[in-house]
Amino acid sequence: MHQETLCVHNGTYHDSATRGVNTPIFTSSSFEYLDRENCPYPRYFNTPNQDVVVRKMSSLEAGEDGVLFSSGMAAMSTTVLAFAGSGDHVVLLDELYGGTHAFATDTFDRLGIQYSFAATDADAVIQAATQATKVIIIESPTNPLLGIIDIRRVAEFAKARGITTIIDNTFATPVNQRPLSLGIDVVIHSGTKYLGGHSDLCCGIAITSHEYADKIRAMARHLGGSLNAITCYLLERSLKTLAIRVERQTRNAHRIAEFLDSHNCVTKVNYPGLPNSRGHAVARSQMTGFGGMLSFELNEQRVSTKAFLRRLRMIRPAVSLGGVESIICAPSETSHAKISSEERRRIGINDSLLRLSVGIEHEDDIIEDISQALNER
Ligand SMILES: *Cc1c(COP(=O)(O)O)cnc(C)c1O
Repeated sequence: MHQETLCVHNGTYHDSATRGVNTPIFTSSSFEYLDRENCPYPRYFNTPNQDVVVRKMSSLEAGEDGVLFSSGMAAMSTTVLAFAGSGDHVVLLDELYGGTHAFATDTFDRLGIQYSFAATDADAVIQAATQATKVIIIESPTNPLLGIIDIRRVAEFAKARGITTIIDNTFATPVNQRPLSLGIDVVIHSGTKYLGGHSDLCCGIAITSHEYADKIRAMARHLGGSLNAITCYLLERSLKTLAIRVERQTRNAHRIAEFLDSHNCVTKVNYPGLPNSRGHAVARSQMTGFGGMLSFELNEQRVSTKAFLRRLRMIRPAVSLGGVESIICAPSETSHAKISSEERRRIGINDSLLRLSVGIEHEDDIIEDISQALNER
């Protein structure tokens, strides 16, 4: 079946008592255990509402199984700790989500995990790997520069060496990119973003094979981080519209990227859908759409970034992303504020960089808002 159909139908719990068309919300944390295996318990990650979301997301990501978490970082940290420990080495991209970056720099030394950062480039990742490398963590497109890495090449290299590959697929969503079918071992999402899609819930998920899901679940039982039934239900409901939301966001983002690219107040646009962008050719080979995220820099001589943000009327300066509403932020003040300014500059995140999460509004209204905020002077 196609993604739109899987979004609506797959995983639904059919309740034979009422024959309602929707999954009921099972609030029990206590279940009878006699005459059954795998008795459900929330922190065992096997309750009915958790299972439903895992089934739907597994089908969307072309995976076998998964583990649903209370945040994206719970999914990432638990997965990393399921595959790396003292004496092991991890390769991560420079451009990873700020929280993943901070997880490595704040905790790996204490845990005895060695690590190296690499540029968003398959050769750089391959060069950074050592004999002790157990895990490679990548993101594509990256946050906030929308860098693209050749996923197939990284996966091929890692497979040959027995290294586990983890990709954060939050920006692309399974609608635009299915990394498991490109050879990646584990796909992570911050479900707080596109999967939830309405800026009103926090969750995360790891999708993979049965074998790897068992390993992640075993670590997850130690660390906790399970998701409650009501949020599971809200997430299931959101996922029914994932494909149509992301399609619209992708279309809008492409149009806005083209508009910004041709505007004389804009010096730089990062969007993998633009033919002149750094990662365009690779993105074309591994994505079915280029996504709803973009970033850009203004010509400070013509328009001040701070004044631009204040002049926007509809698009709100806000953290997070992936909701139905368009929001904008300066990564230097939000997602990457905890990284030193020297490190930010080295990665290429200037203080004037703005990241736009494009919503499902009409594209003309989004462009009109940007246009009036750019042209005030
Ligand atoms: C937000 C985000 C995360 C972390 O997710 P939380 O749900 O906030 O824990 C991880 N990766 C990316 C790309 C994100 O945008």
